[in-house]
Amino acid sequence: MEAFTLFHRSRSGRTCGEMTMMVLRRFMSGSLISRCGRGMRSELAQPGPYMKTARPQSDMAEFRKVFSKAKHIVVITGAGVSAESGVPTFRGAAGYWRKWQAQNLATPEAFFRNPSRVWEYYHYRRELVLTKSPNAAHVALAECEARLSRQGRSLVVISQSVDELHSRAGSQHVLEIHGSLFKTRCVRCGDVVVNHRSPICAALEGKGTPDPNADDANIPAELLPRCEKSTCNGLLRPNVVWFGETLNSDILTQVEKELDICDLCLLVGTSSIVYPAAMFAPQVAARGVPVAEFNLRTTPATSHFKFHFLGHCGTTLPPALQRHESEVI
Ligand SMILES: [Zn+2]
Repeated sequence: MEAFTLFHRSRSGRTCGEMTMMVLRRFMSGSLISRCGRGMRSELAQPGPYMKTARPQSDMAEFRKVFSKAKHIVVITGAGVSAESGVPTFRGAAGYWRKWQAQNLATPEAFFRNPSRVWEYYHYRRELVLTKSPNAAHVALAECEARLSRQGRSLVVISQSVDELHSRAGSQHVLEIHGSLFKTRCVRCGDVVVNHRSPICAALEGKGTPDPNADDANIPAELLPRCEKSTCNGLLRPNVVWFGETLNSDILTQVEKELDICDLCLLVGTSSIVYPAAMFAPQVAARGVPVAEFNLRTTPATSHFKFHFLGHCGTTLPPALQRHESEVI
């Protein structure tokens, strides 16, 4: 039940079980997204302590004053940040790999039915991400975290991406709520291991092309990535959260702690309609904590947050997080 603590706090009055149905991250089906989106809008339409005047574009000087006083900053990031590094979001029309969309591949059922195909897909994504680099938004967050830590202040990133670009930019405190492409989990013993090998195993070398006419490699399970713990040799899977799976309860507990203590929240490159991350910023705003949204477009929740900066976050975030004149270290 620990995993659902966050949902008990929701203002919607939904039961835990109903919220569980709504849980699911960026790979959720379109109909579910749509349903969640409507729920979110109607929920935010109710008068509440977080109601704010709509501000399509905010005053950066005003944001900078709030930023200069913040001691614990939470930054919730989404696919928009990765997209600016050229990492595909695997959504919409561009979301196909061969004939399938993410929601047909990123499920436990797909994996156990055809682990070779699902591993080809993840091998492709791992290799693609390895050719990409952190962008100015990733770097601004990492530099800001390092600077603030010298001043006894903190910045934590709650990432919905699985590409590790925040860590590669130098961010130290990252909570990867959807897991990582570069961690594996043994389906037999549960062991989670960091794995940056390229290719991850010999049999996948040269496989995983997204070409819709490509044939499955049909790699025998014993040649797919296997657990290296002595005596185990279980099949490994990517340590990412798939459709129909709940988020890691230990990570959600850490997320909740950060949301409870933060005095400034940034929402960067995320649509604010995917649960449970969509609940995080409204939860913080309900405590009266300022929320600043950095996004390419307004979202259903925009009008309820104190600040909104429209544009590429690689452009808007660096000036927002640069050293303030009041910072002496
Ligand atoms: Zn194992």
